[in-house]
Amino acid sequence: MTGNPLSRRDVVRGAVLLGVGAATGGLSLAGGTPALAAPDAGTLLAVEPPTIASCATWGARSPGSLSVITSNPDKILIHHTAGANSTTYTQAHAYAMARSIQNFHMDGNGWSDSGQHFTISRGGYVMEGRHNSLTRLRAGSGMVVGAHCPGQNDKSIGIENEGTYTSATPPAALYDRLVQFCAYICDQYGIAASRIYGHRDYVATACPGNVLYGMLPQLRADVADALAGGGGTPPPAFSTIVDNTTSGRFTASANWLTSSYSAERYGADYRYANPEAVSDVAWYRANIPAEGTYRVDAWYPGIAGYNTATPYIVAAKSGNQTVVVDQSTGGGAWRSLGTFTLTAGDRNVAGVSRWSGASGYVVADAIRITRV
Ligand SMILES: [Zn+2]
Repeated sequence: MTGNPLSRRDVVRGAVLLGVGAATGGLSLAGGTPALAAPDAGTLLAVEPPTIASCATWGARSPGSLSVITSNPDKILIHHTAGANSTTYTQAHAYAMARSIQNFHMDGNGWSDSGQHFTISRGGYVMEGRHNSLTRLRAGSGMVVGAHCPGQNDKSIGIENEGTYTSATPPAALYDRLVQFCAYICDQYGIAASRIYGHRDYVATACPGNVLYGMLPQLRADVADALAGGGGTPPPAFSTIVDNTTSGRFTASANWLTSSYSAERYGADYRYANPEAVSDVAWYRANIPAEGTYRVDAWYPGIAGYNTATPYIVAAKSGNQTVVVDQSTGGGAWRSLGTFTLTAGDRNVAGVSRWSGASGYVVADAIRITRV
């Protein structure tokens, strides 16, 4: 964690890619009887935490004044100690290293305690760094303000990894433990695996070394896998169907007429209108419980002669997304419009527009929204 703390650079954040699926390949239900598939509850197992030695366990000194805050960290910062790449992988060596770092930070730097929240030895031993880090992590609530990266000490968990990784590669014992430990931190605090950064992302420093820094994309992917495989906390199941007859949930102008002509309809009937270059959307309203990723499916009776390019609109977080569907075929089943990030709230989520260049009636029948 050496380096000049005066210069910073912006973190490049990955662009959020919105999935706008093609209007094909949706779920197909035999028999035309709409039914909800049972949501996949996933596993309820939490991420397995590694053994973490507390300050008392490795023999820390009493700290000076520390600040524990109620806000949670929103990211993890990876450091290397810039010390020797020791080949002593014992617990005794790990604990001695933790004491050595604390002595250096308190006596050399004049800090009140170890600067980092946690330390991992090359043998794979995880240790608390600054006092109170472990109790807050176990609680998944609040944090002690660290001293490992200016500007980030009250919003990131700092992990010191024993060694120097400018050209050397961390031992598997260290890396594997780092994956497991980061997954545990992400699970406890609700931090996305994508929010694991290197010290140098925030401060002009070589830390955590070119090699370890270059491994961060892999680390993020491995942590994401650990979270998925370990279960994490699955999003609550949510699925709702809004039909054109659902009370208070469907609005369309009088230009949208009612028909029960096609047996492929959902429910008693459906609405249809002539295509025209006008803003006259038939809207489906839903109460989205929380921001998240949702799949939106459409059900319509497919009849040769119906519109071959019907614009469906999904009011996604990033703005209205249009998905064009050929309603002359593939009806009588749920067809996926794609997955979208939807914000929480009770509002018009999806609609059918009349603004189609193709001929034939556009149809508004039913919509299904499922959290994925
Ligand atoms: Zn560092």
